[in-house]
Amino acid sequence: MYDVAKIRRDFPILNRRVGEKPLVYLDNAATSQKPRQVINALSEYYELHNANIHRAVHLLAEEATAAYEEARGKLGRFLGAPDTTGLIFTRGTTESINLVAYAWGRKFLREGDEVVLTESEHHSNLVPWQLTAQATGAKLHFIPVLDDGTLDMEEAERLIGPRTRMVAAIHASNVLGTINPVEKLAALAHEVGALMLVDGAQSAPHTPVDVASLGCDFFACSGHKMLGPTGVGVLWGRPELLEEMDPFMGGGEMIREVHLDYSTWNDLPYKFEAGTMNIAQAIGLGAAVDYLEGLGMQHVREHERRLGEYAYRRLSDIEGITTYGPKEGRTGLVSFSLPDVHPHDLSQLLNDEGIAIRSGHHCVQPLMRRLGVPATARASFYLYNTEDEVDTLVEAISHAREFFRPFAV
Ligand code: PMP
Repeated sequence: MYDVAKIRRDFPILNRRVGEKPLVYLDNAATSQKPRQVINALSEYYELHNANIHRAVHLLAEEATAAYEEARGKLGRFLGAPDTTGLIFTRGTTESINLVAYAWGRKFLREGDEVVLTESEHHSNLVPWQLTAQATGAKLHFIPVLDDGTLDMEEAERLIGPRTRMVAAIHASNVLGTINPVEKLAALAHEVGALMLVDGAQSAPHTPVDVASLGCDFFACSGHKMLGPTGVGVLWGRPELLEEMDPFMGGGEMIREVHLDYSTWNDLPYKFEAGTMNIAQAIGLGAAVDYLEGLGMQHVREHERRLGEYAYRRLSDIEGITTYGPKEGRTGLVSFSLPDVHPHDLSQLLNDEGIAIRSGHHCVQPLMRRLGVPATARASFYLYNTEDEVDTLVEAISHAREFFRPFAV
């Protein structure tokens, strides 16, 4: 049975108070909190095993290497990767996408080639492609977002054509909560001989992911959004593609032989792991994956689906509120705005009630323009949030609405 009270006891920070109020943490799309099991894995590593990996033969180095490689195996299994050759540790989703845009894009894109993105991409799946397009002469095209927050798939079919080399899209939106049909996009990409990259920053923490059944060629996600430490994430790529790509960064460990005038590259995945990696963080992320698998990702998804639908329904009942994104098939987050209340003022007022939500453009400025707003407020839920917390949020927003009413213009 999914026991939220028991789960909450694993997260020390959830006992914190904000002034007199208990913390209600609803900014999980930005970063999640960490269970004791992950915090302990980090301290255990530093207290007992700390050493640099892959390079020395002493006991600590062997233990650290084994723990790091074990974490790689856990991440591979978690994402359904057929083997870990294509499983690269990075700093997070941003670095994973930059790796592909740089190491694949700059090598294989030519003038006139096309990269198809969506109108709802996080800046980290847009700006790297802009840089690559500038360097190569490739063109970017964007699948529009319909008024209900879903993708215009008819337009997608039209845009993905013979000049398309790459389709890159978010699996789930950090603003709209939409879950995109990435399997369908991957199929459209493959029909024309293009590749598919999935930005899984908002899906891997919340729903079972299987890269094989998604049919994608690259999948990126961030550890810190899925109970893991900051500074570590993953890129999974089809090994034969990674093999053809040049390295992203040069330095120690990614080489086989170095001469004064040339070098050769290490095997996968080490070819893409230059320098000393975030060893402790990768091991911590392995512990996070153990924790998620212990709960079962299907149960996590079900809990958040129920909570997200409850929050969407309760928030939509607030007079004058606008909620964004589709009514159904969404993840556990809700973006909204109130008339005459700036989202920053609202989140400031909610902070006085101990409630942490996010306000701003959420690193998706083009989507904000599409929605016709400079910013939204966003409450994002995770596996430890409760219906009581949603009720606290709704009550606090209703108070805020009353508070700001006299200032309405
Ligand atoms: N993509 C999406 C959809 C996101 O929500 C985020 C984080 N907000 C990122 C990419 C970037 O993740 P990171 O900052 O961990 O690299």
